[in-house]
Amino acid sequence: LPISWEAEADLIVVGGGVAGLTAARAASLRGLRVLTLSKGGPTDTSTQYAQGGIAVVAPKRDSVASHVKDTMEAGAGLCDLAAVESIVSGGQDAIASLTDLGAVFDLGRDGKVSRTREGGHSTRRIIHAGGDATGAEVQRALNAAGLPVLFGAAAARIVTDPMSGVQGVIVLSDKGYGVVHAPSVLLATGGLGQLYACSTNPPGATADGVALALDAGATVADIEFVQFHPTVLFASGGVGRRPLISEAVRGEGAKLVDTEGNSVTAGVHPRGDLAPRDVVSKAIAARLRQLDTDHVFLDARSIDGFAQRFPTITASCLAAGIDPTTQLIPVAPAAHYQCGGVVTDVNGHTGVPGLYAAGEVARTGLHGANRLASNSLLEGLVVGERAGIAAAERKGITAQVRDSVLWATARLPRAHVQQLMTDNAGVVRDNAGLTNAYTQLVAAPKWGSGDVTALEDSALTVTANALVLAASARLESRGCHTRSDYTETSDVQRHSIPIRMDEGGEL
Ligand code: FAD
Repeated sequence: LPISWEAEADLIVVGGGVAGLTAARAASLRGLRVLTLSKGGPTDTSTQYAQGGIAVVAPKRDSVASHVKDTMEAGAGLCDLAAVESIVSGGQDAIASLTDLGAVFDLGRDGKVSRTREGGHSTRRIIHAGGDATGAEVQRALNAAGLPVLFGAAAARIVTDPMSGVQGVIVLSDKGYGVVHAPSVLLATGGLGQLYACSTNPPGATADGVALALDAGATVADIEFVQFHPTVLFASGGVGRRPLISEAVRGEGAKLVDTEGNSVTAGVHPRGDLAPRDVVSKAIAARLRQLDTDHVFLDARSIDGFAQRFPTITASCLAAGIDPTTQLIPVAPAAHYQCGGVVTDVNGHTGVPGLYAAGEVARTGLHGANRLASNSLLEGLVVGERAGIAAAERKGITAQVRDSVLWATARLPRAHVQQLMTDNAGVVRDNAGLTNAYTQLVAAPKWGSGDVTALEDSALTVTANALVLAASARLESRGCHTRSDYTETSDVQRHSIPIRMDEGGEL
């Protein structure tokens, strides 16, 4: 592999979203020379698109115990209680740091921070900014902190030494392949939404961190639990990020109908179109299969003042050539959030010396089998900060990437992986589909290094393989993992499924 440049750091942070920038700041404040890499630009993150807000306990009328209870219930038996308690307890300090950085949250009429309620929360504890633009404000405040970030630089491989752990990272930038020598690497690469044909995540959400961590010897768990949002705008030919059509549209009276004009949720749940997210997603997925189509419709034509009530959604629809006041809105379920990931403790340690992870890529035990709404920005802030502090423990250790850096990884093109996963490992799974996906994924040819597209395709292929393995082994339905051939939740399976890579690169 021709290496055209070299650099050195105490800590390499991979990712410029909420978790990465929070970690980079914490580590810099402790005197570490931090190099943050981001393969995209300053706002090419899921953080930028987060809407609803951040779940954080209010000082008087709420309690950590109540937030913990709500989180545990959503997690369907797989949350780690100690991790939930620890992370939820860190919320107020994390928000205080963010406010110190200049983040501005919406205030109520009483002049205090306004708090809203979301599904699964027993009280109003979600703070928000700019109405429904919370993530953009968090990203703005963190970007404005002025941390040095190398944009357009993708981490291609973490180099480790069996004795001393992390030695550095192979990076692909516009100057070609380079090496950054460092004793610590912190993965904050976000989620895996791009494993599926339809996702709310930006195009860069290709699960790079999961693949990098597996290759470096770390363990991945709960990766089969992917949260799907029931309704995103399904305009033809769109790839990459799809706009959410929020539940509030159904709340105002829009109806879900199939391509033949029949109700999608009639007889499925007493609350019909307003049933819980997973129920609506499953009803839509079943209808898509039945009719062999890729979308259903939301009929919002009866809503008065739609454009005033939903300006962002109206703009997205109009941009796709759909007038929601006179036309049906095509929608489909979309991959939204990765509940599992790289196994870490609440300080971001992965078990590989010098390798840390935080944010959506990490599996701390906070989310279990299903994430409680608005707990992810909270986790990115709290664990991001702690992981940045933890990385300071390796300061002073010398690291040098010495080995020749040649490697080969399984790789299928993105569109192929997306089709495989959407057809066989989506909202509803069964043995036949998972086996079909697995057979194709294990047969994927191995290729050497390439451009960023090749790196992303490899990450998607490896992560798809890990997800399908875990989903095949989970012979039950739990949280956001639903199997049509194992519809019950099984007490025997109340544990996480660890996935590792052997020396030959096999999972
Ligand atoms: P991201 O913010 O996704 O950042 C990942 C970073 O890693 C990017 O900079 C990317 O370029 C970089 N990267 C990836 N791979 C590489 C590589 N190989 N080399 C270099 N850089 C790399 N959560 C909430 O709590 N509340 C909400 O209201 C909410 N709403 C949401 C709405 C939408 C539409 C979406 C998509 C998500 C929402 N979420 C919400 C989830 C939340 O936004 C994310 O979980 C969270 O922002 C993830 O932050 P992160 O720092 O882990 O990753």
